[in-house]
Amino acid sequence: MPPIETGADATVRLRITEIFASLQGESSRVGLPTVFVRLTGCPLRCTWCDTAYAFSGGSPRSVDDILAEVARHGLRHVCVTGGEPLAQKGCPALLTALCDAGHSVSLETSGALDIGGVDARVSRIMDLKAPGSGEAAKNRYANLALLNAHDELKIVLADAADYEWAKRQIAEHALAERCPVLLSPVAGSLAPAELAGWIVRDRLPVRFQLQLHKILWDDARGR
Ligand code: SF4
Repeated sequence: MPPIETGADATVRLRITEIFASLQGESSRVGLPTVFVRLTGCPLRCTWCDTAYAFSGGSPRSVDDILAEVARHGLRHVCVTGGEPLAQKGCPALLTALCDAGHSVSLETSGALDIGGVDARVSRIMDLKAPGSGEAAKNRYANLALLNAHDELKIVLADAADYEWAKRQIAEHALAERCPVLLSPVAGSLAPAELAGWIVRDRLPVRFQLQLHKILWDDARGR
């Protein structure tokens, strides 16, 4: 296949753990066939992290090389994930190049790093870390003011204390007025039906979600 002319800076290289096609497992894009680009490395260590294999390793690749592999999958939707993608300084350039290539692009980010430099065409799916993650002190609260209706805020909950914390955050920061808010239970820690019941009981202005890829494939790598 001839190289794709993207205008991307040929000197920008990113460390990549894997690129694969699957169904989007989370967010309002759930169920859409999507190419995932998983960047290596993360400065956080959430207690319930399910992608620790992306903390290290990977291979350095140019933006054009990544674009070419994404193109081979023949899908419009692309999700840049990790690890924490924004921990690599070339990530914003990759996101812009993917948009320029005509993809509909989402970014999954921990919420610990500045999201301000991300191309406005990208839908930012940003975490707010609850105390049960062990990483709530890393939340970069200045990011909340940058979220808009094109983005989504995700809070993963390990227990009832996390749920009460999330309720306070939603109220104090008017989160549901900024963008869709997604609440997810930690698999094996909080029963999905229990969280669903609390949300209905409290009439919380959020969307409940389960991770589709875990239901379908039991969290197998590359699915
Ligand atoms: S931010 Fe994401 S990749 Fe990093 S430790 Fe937490 S869950 Fe894992």
